[in-house]
Amino acid sequence: MARVIRFRNQLTAMYLFKKIADLRHHLERINRAGKTIGFVPTMGALHEGHASLVRQSAEETSCTVCSIFVNPTQFNEATDLVKYPKTPEKDIALLLDAGCSVLFIPDVAEVYPDGQRSALHLDFGYLDQPMEGAYRPGHFVGVAQVVKRLLDIVQPDQLFMGQKDFQQFAIVQHMVTKLALSVNLRMCPTVRETDGLAMSSRNMRLTPAQRALAPLIYQTLSQAKANMHDQWPDALKSAAMKALSVPGMEPEYFEIVDSRTLQPITIFEDHDMVVACTAVRVGEVRLIDNLILKTM
Ligand code: AMP
Repeated sequence: MARVIRFRNQLTAMYLFKKIADLRHHLERINRAGKTIGFVPTMGALHEGHASLVRQSAEETSCTVCSIFVNPTQFNEATDLVKYPKTPEKDIALLLDAGCSVLFIPDVAEVYPDGQRSALHLDFGYLDQPMEGAYRPGHFVGVAQVVKRLLDIVQPDQLFMGQKDFQQFAIVQHMVTKLALSVNLRMCPTVRETDGLAMSSRNMRLTPAQRALAPLIYQTLSQAKANMHDQWPDALKSAAMKALSVPGMEPEYFEIVDSRTLQPITIFEDHDMVVACTAVRVGEVRLIDNLILKTM
């Protein structure tokens, strides 16, 4: 059954559903009224980055659906799944404020009634091999599985996802094209803290000392962009790996890739759009970020 949640001024309200059947019943009424549906899938522990996706959806569609589901099939490290932060009350307040109309919070059995093994066998080409694919085996199979399942459930007109997870966006875009899904995929810019650190649910797991160190990730990406006219991609990569190798921080990769193929590039001039992507361990916490170096 739906719960209607109101907030502060009592003017905004949001429906909350845990069951697919109830959600579908509600969304079919929205469809029949000729309204458009925007969808923002999340894993909760929401911050301004998520809010920006919801706001964009609320501006461009008549009904914004947000899901909070910590998808077990995309976690390759069990401790990461267990430690994934949960802030349900704060999430609800943020979503109401950002203009979310419907919140869907299913449990695992609701999303995967036939078990968690993926029935979706998609060839991602090379897109799932480098970077996150190399360091998080099976991660993108889980991501594609849950996004496909949630799209089947919500059936939105528009799907809003963040540039923050650039490779994830590329994988979902590939899936949407390959399966000819009738959804319009939209990329929203990365929202950052004032010191440049990309907002992430994982940031709250950083100690104060680690939090003070973490802006080095964005500084290093920005440095690569500042030097791209004077140095080859290989040299930029080596300098970045060195800059990120400081006590308390361990870079996993820093790659300069073609935004379409995710293949490392050797010459900027040969590519229309180039992005620098990195993953860094700050203590136990693994952070990812990226910066577009060149665009058409
Ligand atoms: P998550 O809850 O981390 O799975 O993220 C849900 C969605 O929010 C994904 O599409 C992310 O790319 C997006 N997102 C996460 N952090 C940010 C950010 N700092 N700025 C913009 N979008 C973000």
